[in-house]
Amino acid sequence: MTLLADRFGRTFPYLRLSVIEACNFRCTYCLPNGFQARPGRPEPLSREEIARLLHGFAAVGLRKLRLTGGEPSLRRDLPELIASAAAVGGIESIGLTTNGTLLDRRVTRWREAGLTNLNVSVDCLDRERFQTITGHDRLPEILRGIELARELGFKAIKLNAVLLRDLNDDQMPAWRDYLRERRVTLRFIELMQTGDNRAYFERHHLRADGLEQQLQDEGWRLLPRATDAGPAREYAHADFAGRIGVIAPYSKDFCAGCNRLRVTHTGDLRLCLFGNVGIPLRPLLQCDDDRPRLVSALRTQLGLKAIGHRLHEGETGLTPNLSTIGG
Ligand code: SF4
Repeated sequence: MTLLADRFGRTFPYLRLSVIEACNFRCTYCLPNGFQARPGRPEPLSREEIARLLHGFAAVGLRKLRLTGGEPSLRRDLPELIASAAAVGGIESIGLTTNGTLLDRRVTRWREAGLTNLNVSVDCLDRERFQTITGHDRLPEILRGIELARELGFKAIKLNAVLLRDLNDDQMPAWRDYLRERRVTLRFIELMQTGDNRAYFERHHLRADGLEQQLQDEGWRLLPRATDAGPAREYAHADFAGRIGVIAPYSKDFCAGCNRLRVTHTGDLRLCLFGNVGIPLRPLLQCDDDRPRLVSALRTQLGLKAIGHRLHEGETGLTPNLSTIGG
């Protein structure tokens, strides 16, 4: 099998698939006014279309799948989706990125369906501040859901916190306490500019360099990066069961190790989170006989992938906000 590769020699074993655009949160850095359902929007990909998509990607080396949204748990058939992904040969890990609102009620079923990795968005541990950032007072039940998930034998549980100046950049003491006994990874993600959040970005964007220096000064040790790992730089400390990761898209060479592609909830291939092109794959997902055409389309499109994003030039591509593509 020839792996999907671009002209810079990078290979792409990792697919981030958005399964729904709707979200039930109003995160200030993403959907401050909440999800606005507009009539006439195309339906998200069906289970059959998604199964054909995954078989196509598996034919070119897909090993790691992440299901995203909007908020993927809003899809009623999520357990069936997970199970059908688990039935596709070659996919070694199936992850989900969720805001955690249905975690305590559904995580056991997702795990039984074949989910192996879990990422939960928790921007801070202060209940009031959490409500300010997400628009919802749901932190206690989300933390309860994470405790339940920790009993279910996931390969990895990660907490995603978007680093926000003057909103949650003073939370390290609380996070240290949380990570002392818990074998989870907290990942700080630099706030990224998107089409809709320029003013917010200018107010709250904080580079992660200072945080990484602080971690190293406190004795956190940078770990080697696994081959199909995501973009995080991960740190461990002898006194903590948990780890800390940093995702810094504004850092030098961030895109050098790009290994992931994205497909939107309506089947558009996105070569880059901040790219300017979306290639419709849906017409090739209508019958199994189209798999060779799907595979050839993927190979052709990869030839167009750019070396990296142009966020430093304020170029945010097609992404108005991250709920449209699941980050
Ligand atoms: S910004 Fe684009 S090129 Fe860079 S790592 Fe992300 S997807 Fe890859």
